[in-house]
Amino acid sequence: MYALRRWSVRRAGLMEAAYRVLDRVLDAVRPVVRFVGYDRLERPVAFVERHAKGLLFDCRMCGACSLSATGMACPMNCPKPMRNGPCGGVRPDGTCEVDASMPCVWVEAWRGASKMKAGALPTAPNPPVEHHYAGRSSWLRVLRQEAWPAPLVTEAPHAPQSGSQSRLEALLDDKVFVVTSECSPPDSADPADVLARVGHYEGWVDALNVTDAPGAHCHMSSLGVSLILQRAGFEAVMQMTCRDRNRIAIQGDILAAAALGVRNLLCLTGDAIGNGDDPGAKPVFDLDAVSLLDTARRLRDDGLYRSGRKLTGRPHLFLGAVDNPFVPPHDLRPLRLGRKIAAGARFVQTQYCFDVAMLARYMASVRAEGLHERCHILVGVGPLVSARSARWMRAHVPGVHIPDEVVARLESARDPEDEGVRQCVETIEAIRAIEGVSGIHLMAPKREHLIGAIVSRSRVLADRPRAS
Ligand code: SF4
Repeated sequence: MYALRRWSVRRAGLMEAAYRVLDRVLDAVRPVVRFVGYDRLERPVAFVERHAKGLLFDCRMCGACSLSATGMACPMNCPKPMRNGPCGGVRPDGTCEVDASMPCVWVEAWRGASKMKAGALPTAPNPPVEHHYAGRSSWLRVLRQEAWPAPLVTEAPHAPQSGSQSRLEALLDDKVFVVTSECSPPDSADPADVLARVGHYEGWVDALNVTDAPGAHCHMSSLGVSLILQRAGFEAVMQMTCRDRNRIAIQGDILAAAALGVRNLLCLTGDAIGNGDDPGAKPVFDLDAVSLLDTARRLRDDGLYRSGRKLTGRPHLFLGAVDNPFVPPHDLRPLRLGRKIAAGARFVQTQYCFDVAMLARYMASVRAEGLHERCHILVGVGPLVSARSARWMRAHVPGVHIPDEVVARLESARDPEDEGVRQCVETIEAIRAIEGVSGIHLMAPKREHLIGAIVSRSRVLADRPRAS
């Protein structure tokens, strides 16, 4: 099946022309179809559509066909049904993080779009799938002239109410170079186990991300850990993924978190279930990271659930997203970032940077689009402590790019851990010099004792009183 799907994408221009002809045919037959009755034709038309589009595009009949906005590559073939661009795990050769035997749907979409009239993917984000349309004919929806789900676009830039800003938001708006880090929740119901993990961060970070079942492994929830940390004086950045909850559960959790004082929300699609230790769990992915951002933004700015129902009290939220400048398709990354910003992201944390030249190229295209002025960009950094662990990360952690020179330096070092810290400090210094970077996101899992040394040696907090 992949072969025909790829053939269609390679001929996206031809397919686009065929769709224009189909549109004219649908217009011509509309009076007849109306006379026969749309409902009577639903089953036979859906049957023909399923088989024709199934053959050409591996169509999954989501009921809201978006092929013309996705380079003729059906996004429903993505194992994480991403509707707005590639995840951060695309392999260096452009194959899928989850299924290495197929090309990433979005690598294909980018190629397909270059062959179509517009020559690029649209910048406006695609809306989420409305699941009650699944299995229904998109052609008949066009014939009925039903309203098509509109792209997700922020009406106005977010202006926080005074006193509602998180400390992280206030620092970034004051153009202070910030330091964030992250901690993993424990496999425990004891709050002391949360606090036992965070001593090394005290005084060295402005905010602490709390991961949400990272790597599809169950731990204490990010909401629970965020509350424990905030009560202990840390500022939490609560991570929320789309993998484990549908939009109803997501909106309830966002309101609960905001009601309990969590202000920073980082929206992610999430790792695939197969990465974890419970592959029998059901992947949800009702929303993707972009529509999750849009959902949180609507709650905050419009006081509305996705359904349109009104809230009586809005959440105060500083919304963030993630990006990975270090994996293909590189030219598509700024567009994906732009979609996240359009959906509501005001800060972005990137994957680990071990290749400053690659980051500089990414930032040049971000600046060319003016995205750094609409969103604060925090670059991911972290120490590698041996050549062996660097090779392991490169092979096993999706989306991590580590150049050979970095591994070679670790290999020849007498004290690899100290060399890893030195490399990390050098990277931070180089990152600070790149226009448009607003801070670092320092990740050191199982090496938290190095956080203080890295922050202090890089002097990122030297101009201000120590954070807490
Ligand atoms: S690499 Fe990511 S975005 Fe691309 S098809 Fe696989 S899961 Fe989807």
